[in-house]
Amino acid sequence: LVVLRGVDKHFGDLHVLREIDLTVARGEVVVVIGPSGGGKSTLCRAINRLETVDSGEIVIDGKPLPAEGRELAALRADVGMVFQSFNLFAHKTVLQNVTLGQIKVRRTDRKTAEERARGLLQRVGVEAQADKYPAQLSGGQQQRVAIARALAMDPKIMLFDEPTSALDPEMINEVLEVMRQLARSGMTMVVVTHEMGFARSAANRVVFMADGRIVEESTPDQFFSSPSSDRAKDFLSKIL
Ligand code: ATP
Ligand code: MG
Repeated sequence: LVVLRGVDKHFGDLHVLREIDLTVARGEVVVVIGPSGGGKSTLCRAINRLETVDSGEIVIDGKPLPAEGRELAALRADVGMVFQSFNLFAHKTVLQNVTLGQIKVRRTDRKTAEERARGLLQRVGVEAQADKYPAQLSGGQQQRVAIARALAMDPKIMLFDEPTSALDPEMINEVLEVMRQLARSGMTMVVVTHEMGFARSAANRVVFMADGRIVEESTPDQFFSSPSSDRAKDFLSKIL
């Protein structure tokens, strides 16, 4: 569903993505972990074309990037993204946050969009907050709304960039549980996270990134019990 081949990216002199080859199959859950500054966010942003790349190929569902104009809007709708900071529209209600993209990008009529939005808000457990504004919600609730908003576009793949790292500890689980359910439902997911419990329980594959490279790629069992690279061993010894 997603194929990256030989992807390179610099920010000025900084080489942030080096020869990245990565394939994500339909229904697969790939967890990306690694030290700060390793290029994980840049990788996600490149898949969603929030960043351009210098060279290499990115193909999403058979369509090569770069996309422009209408194609880019379609790509963004197909590739849902959830960030560390919830990025909800502050001046729109929860319900409006989840209907806006459906109406503007997917051209869904308002009634259908609202029905769908309420269903999704229920699925992530925040249906009671539908008429509130984001600032009136807890961080965990806001992040669940952000997930519902992305799902409302009926994406082919969901990217999560440290979705729980801005949350208070007691809210982390409610968001991870929504993500686990999503994984079980067959959604294709790329998840950057430091939540190793989630990686162990939900990932089909762990990708370890450092210094702009994919250093190692394996099953969660393999990765956590016997990482092959010194870089990964060192990283795991610091966080586990
Ligand atoms: P973290 O775990 O801290 O989120 P990360 O693995 O997501 O790190 P990136 O955010 O992808 O890392 O950043 C990779 C490198 O690129 C870092 O050195 C960062 O400072 C740099 N960088 C990221 N965005 C930009 C930008 N817009 N302009 C210049 N440098 C950037
Ligand atoms: Mg990051």
